Amino acid sequence: NVQLSKRVQQIKPSPTLAVTNKAAELRAAGNDIIGLGAGEPDFDTPDHIKKAAVEAISRGQTKYTAVDGTPGLKKAIIDKFKRDNELVYEPNQILVSSGGKQSFFNLSLALLNPGDEVVIPAPYWVSYPDMVKVAEGVPVVIETSQANRFKITPEQLAESITPRTRLVVLNSPSNPSGMAYSRAELEALGTVLLKHPEVLIATDDMYEHILWSGEPFCNIVNACPALYDRTFVLNGVSKAYSMTGWRIGYAAGPQPVIAAMKKIQSQSTSNPASISQAAAEAALNGPQECVAVMVKAFHERHDWLVDALNRLPGVNCIPGDGTFYAFPSFQGVIDATDGVSNDVELAEHLLKTAGVAMVPGSAFGTPGFMRLSFATSMETLEKAIERLQKALS
Ligand code: PLP
Repeated sequence: NVQLSKRVQQIKPSPTLAVTNKAAELRAAGNDIIGLGAGEPDFDTPDHIKKAAVEAISRGQTKYTAVDGTPGLKKAIIDKFKRDNELVYEPNQILVSSGGKQSFFNLSLALLNPGDEVVIPAPYWVSYPDMVKVAEGVPVVIETSQANRFKITPEQLAESITPRTRLVVLNSPSNPSGMAYSRAELEALGTVLLKHPEVLIATDDMYEHILWSGEPFCNIVNACPALYDRTFVLNGVSKAYSMTGWRIGYAAGPQPVIAAMKKIQSQSTSNPASISQAAAEAALNGPQECVAVMVKAFHERHDWLVDALNRLPGVNCIPGDGTFYAFPSFQGVIDATDGVSNDVELAEHLLKTAGVAMVPGSAFGTPGFMRLSFATSMETLEKAIERLQKALS
């Protein structure tokens, strides 16, 4: 009987990966399961990106690189920040990691002491609270509502900040809600943050390009440039270029903390895969039309799915600004279903009775809702809705 660390006992496995695994298990056992749990684009990685990886292998870019990323990729990232975000960084302000997940992990370990608080608006990406806990920090969750488009208000932010607050996390467009903060909303949040100069900010811009709000993408530093010196911009190639398996994410921010994050990475994983770095460089430097093609498809599916969800009895979905997730309320269904008292039980129930896998809102800190990924074909979505329709009526 091995005694595990308190650290690992405090955390749970990623619930989104768990749903995907459960669906895969049922499928392997011969069940016809439609998986709407996955958090990755259904498109193939564009050819010019794959080609860059093959060329990297051929020319022998198959060895250790600098821990924080190749000079070529770091330059591509710096150019990207200038081009897309009007943000200027020096190479020593950039750290390339094995996915956006490792960027946030490094940040948590580099910043937090036991008991330090991290403000996380819900619904949140499932990994933030658990990574904070690994670093012995304390997640402080701000609840939002569908009526407020799942966004926090400046008043809520002000109330959540205490003398122990070390970091505030923003993710826009949001996984799972699909909502994006407007520039004006970010300015208002920025006004609160300006009153707390000791608080650092992480903006997770992973879904930057998957956006159809009509407004150009804007993060907290764009809205409030005075926060530049204490904001970490987290991004990556996983979602925009359909490169989830390549594992490349990056962070930009204040040099001393980036250096500390690099130190942690140097004692854990070292550099991200050299071949993936070559591919990511091609993704950032190359033609961007492939992104627009995917975003157009996501937008069309979004419009269809939100409409279809709202026709289901007991389901209520507000349209999102981007990402490839819909986040409808299933509270009406929970209330009307015998033997089901919450979203987790409902997700299990619908997996069994309808053969549709969705992630319950509780996983994101917002019970009563479901996350449906529309990173899948229209045909699959139509079939899923048909089955839900049958199961719910
Ligand atoms: N941030 C958000 C909001 C995400 O949804 C994800 C992936 O699900 C990530 C970061 C991490 O992406 P990856 O580690 O695959 O680059």
